[in-house]
Amino acid sequence: MYYTSTRDKSVRVTASEAITKGISSDGGLFVPTEIPKINEDFIKELIPLSYIERAKRVLSLYLTDFSDEEIAYCVEGAYRQGKFSSDKVAPLYKLADGEYVLELWRGPTCAFKDMALQLLPYLLTTASEKTLKDTEIVILVATSGDTGKAALEGFKDVPNTKILVFYPVDGVSPMQKLQMTTQEGKNVSVCAIEGNFDDAQSGVKAIFTDKDIEKKFKENNLAFSSANSINWGRLVPQIVYYVSAYCDMVENGAIALGEEINIVVPTGNFGNILAAYYAKKMGIPVKTLICASNANNVLTDFLKSGTYDKNRDFYCTTSPSMDILISSNLERLLFHLSGENDVQVKEWMQSLSSNGKYTVTDEVFAQIKALFDAGCCDDIATKSTIAEIFNSKKYLCDTHTAVALNVYKNYKAQTGDSTPAVIASTANPYKFSASVLSAVSEEIKAENEFDMVDELFAKSNEPVPAQLASLKGKEPRFKQVCNKNNMKQVVFDMLGI
Ligand SMILES: *Cc1c(COP(=O)(O)O)cnc(C)c1O
Repeated sequence: MYYTSTRDKSVRVTASEAITKGISSDGGLFVPTEIPKINEDFIKELIPLSYIERAKRVLSLYLTDFSDEEIAYCVEGAYRQGKFSSDKVAPLYKLADGEYVLELWRGPTCAFKDMALQLLPYLLTTASEKTLKDTEIVILVATSGDTGKAALEGFKDVPNTKILVFYPVDGVSPMQKLQMTTQEGKNVSVCAIEGNFDDAQSGVKAIFTDKDIEKKFKENNLAFSSANSINWGRLVPQIVYYVSAYCDMVENGAIALGEEINIVVPTGNFGNILAAYYAKKMGIPVKTLICASNANNVLTDFLKSGTYDKNRDFYCTTSPSMDILISSNLERLLFHLSGENDVQVKEWMQSLSSNGKYTVTDEVFAQIKALFDAGCCDDIATKSTIAEIFNSKKYLCDTHTAVALNVYKNYKAQTGDSTPAVIASTANPYKFSASVLSAVSEEIKAENEFDMVDELFAKSNEPVPAQLASLKGKEPRFKQVCNKNNMKQVVFDMLGI
């Protein structure tokens, strides 16, 4: 199987090349030239298997230039016993009949990004041995909070790699900030930027395609790669958990094999929900993909109107990992739905960067309507959803998951669709203690982050992940804040070039 660019169909690279490059030099994203198909027999064989074994089978369909041994090495390293706080890696929690929460935050940093970022360093180093001998890989990350920490944790002390993370100075939760600024490891760096996530992401994208930097990198035997969800190596591990969740739904009797499910995803950069789209295209019976946004509802409007328009106010919400107005991975969906029309996709993306908007064709919009439903939820509704779920179901969820649960509740009320649903839960509630605590508690005594953690525990009895509790009192290592126009210099300084 080969990969091509969403902006230039003449590009043809292997999975290894797609993963090591991160982004195509024309600015497009790598996509598979065909989506592998699985049938009921394939799913039936997966059902009795562990997450690791399921992952090997699914990944081998996409990473065709990796040997079985290489895939086994990568997957076993990423998901081995002890790394995730559940033997099932990504367990389903039954909230109600036909409503299952897919807990994707059982990994080392307590957010769903671990599902991909524990695997990516293995994929990347294995791939680069094939494509880039004797080159050191520099991972640049723009983060709205969770990617940064998960990438740092995944890449720390991985030989032949360096990692630099940029985060918006006021755009992450105190716990997220502390997780990043206290990161250990010899090859890691973290810098705040004065700007929002979109500024960080645009800055990183510009560095990737900067010709001067490219030259300087070549001279120094360095190569960039990306750990953002624009990297195919980030997306492909996410397809696995939707396939696996479907198997679990059959295994636990929620559905019979072949029956459809709905999938609800709290969405920012459109990566997680795009992985669900790939799972559906592979042959997992999915009826509707339900895209949930917070007050930054550019995707809700797009999926309902066919016009993407980022010219609007940007809100800092209680679900900061979804505070995004440019959802990069949408480009991949548009490529597939437009019949792989690279010229068209390039035009839309140019229009997005010059006018902040574009409108898709009627043909593409008709397909979007058939595949997706969408909704959004402000901070007030997020808060009341956390309270409602906690009081009625004794389940404590984080703010991002609450956005999905709220949008799903409204979807069900409006459509009457009771197809069994898998709702992606993307973070542990203690990552956002202040917001979660204020939702479930009338009066809060705590004044700092860790007192809030204690108070939330007293209220909910939900275990506090050790990796968050241990941050208490830890001194930050990385305190630098830079202007968004200075990111290039920060990269040079970090690398000493
Ligand atoms: C990254 C993130 C999201 C958004 O995921 P996308 O793949 O960017 O759509 C949602 N919730 C949490 C907690 C996240 O960290």
